[in-house]
Amino acid sequence: MTTGTNRAFKYGNQPIRITTVQVVEELGGAATIKQVDSFLRRMYPHYRDNTRSNLVINTVNCNRSHWDCNKVARRTDDTNHRYHQYDRLFKRGNVFEVYQPSVHGVWELYQDQQGKWCYRKVKSEFEKAVDAASKLSSSERKEILKTESKTPELIVVTTRVYKRSPYVVAEVLLRANGKCQSCKRDAPFLKEDGTPFLEVHHIEWLSNGGDDSVENAIALCPNCHRQVHYGVLALVSINK
Ligand SMILES: [Zn+2]
Ligand SMILES: [Zn+2]
Repeated sequence: MTTGTNRAFKYGNQPIRITTVQVVEELGGAATIKQVDSFLRRMYPHYRDNTRSNLVINTVNCNRSHWDCNKVARRTDDTNHRYHQYDRLFKRGNVFEVYQPSVHGVWELYQDQQGKWCYRKVKSEFEKAVDAASKLSSSERKEILKTESKTPELIVVTTRVYKRSPYVVAEVLLRANGKCQSCKRDAPFLKEDGTPFLEVHHIEWLSNGGDDSVENAIALCPNCHRQVHYGVLALVSINK
């Protein structure tokens, strides 16, 4: 029986599933199975492991219940969980990205009524409260509203944001010339100062390592911008 530091690993000095996540980080935080696979082959000439499995075991939004560590109910925001170390990646199409709760949301592993292990995106506390409130009848809600204070409670939150270049925003807005660069419609309204209201979005998100550059930015109307973030809308770089 070997333990701890004496343990022998097939590749390098740690389990390959850990190295596999590090390769995704090394490849800029996002990579396909093929890219990770060829990287590992260059690292270890004798490499012949299942790269796909080693990615999936760590991926919060994949069916990964054939591993015992993933047959344990947990949320990805439970950072003290003994298996939290396996919540490392997020799958978008055929690309595995380094998982970031602020970008990808909170996910959970749970067992359904048939006992099958599943994953799902977890709603925020507020979203849950809205769901519960929607299930009540209108009269039930009215009764509750009578007792609720109309003065909202003020709370302080800390947010982390990227400092963006005002030159990029100004240049992209100039190029857009008052039209959404996705749907090509006119900006929905003019701001108080008479300029068209458009929002400058980064095609490759800054949080995914995208550049704060004119090439990576696009001016969008509020509808297109929301759709990019909450629905499905593919964008192409047009400010080259
Ligand atoms: Zn638009
Ligand atoms: Zn955006």
